[in-house]
Amino acid sequence: MQMVDPHIHIDSRTREDLASMATAGIIAVVTLTYYPHLHLSISSQTLLDHFERAINFEAWRGRQELIDVYVGISLNPVSIPPDYDKVLAAMPKYIRKERVVAIGEIGLEPGSQTCPDLTRQREIVKAQLKISKEHGIPVVFHTPHLDKETWVEQYLDLIGQEKVAPSKVVIDHADASVTKKVFDFGCNVGITVQPWRGLGPQDAAKILKDCDLGSVLIDSDCNVTLPSDPLSVPKTALEMKRIGFSEDDIKQVVFENPARIFNLARFNHADLSD
Ligand SMILES: [Zn+2]
Repeated sequence: MQMVDPHIHIDSRTREDLASMATAGIIAVVTLTYYPHLHLSISSQTLLDHFERAINFEAWRGRQELIDVYVGISLNPVSIPPDYDKVLAAMPKYIRKERVVAIGEIGLEPGSQTCPDLTRQREIVKAQLKISKEHGIPVVFHTPHLDKETWVEQYLDLIGQEKVAPSKVVIDHADASVTKKVFDFGCNVGITVQPWRGLGPQDAAKILKDCDLGSVLIDSDCNVTLPSDPLSVPKTALEMKRIGFSEDDIKQVVFENPARIFNLARFNHADLSD
């Protein structure tokens, strides 16, 4: 079955990982902004280089393994440079680039070392929501690992204040404690299947039993910092099958939803336009 992984960090994965993903049926990915570092100062230029690398080099690297690479650009709360205004100012230019399909990941992160001030983080989220609304581009939210209900409530408030269409928003790293709240608001739920979270393919398949299947995504968030699995999406598809989901239901979750939310069919990809 053809699948899309709508949240990865491709720059931290090997060609061998990409080959495995393609073998398992992944034909497209959305790679989001995340610039991990330790005691390293970053500037706006670091992030602009990161965007360029994703759009050009990483898209080329994906193509070598027959994976279409699409890009989310953002000020991720863990990588906020002191001159972040320059990144905000450059974002509209990047949004117009062909492969850029989202602003993400954005959000609040109490563990941020580059910007521990949550009031400042909130201002940066609002600025990015404004850009999303102005350009009609989807947004992907990172939800902190603990106390998800509190963070999601704050996100829904901010989305309401900035009047962004809920259908254009993915609240990612969701778990069973927040899915209902997110669906009721009209946003899409992202379930990140990642070993360090203690949320495996079987857990995800169980959560999906209580989900609106038209508004939910499965992703791997595979990165270089914490234990990840680039095959999380195909493994979850298999677990869905094991517990009785139909082929149509599985296809909706792992292919049709991401293709619709990120409007991937416009790229005239032979597989995505049917
Ligand atoms: Zn991520």
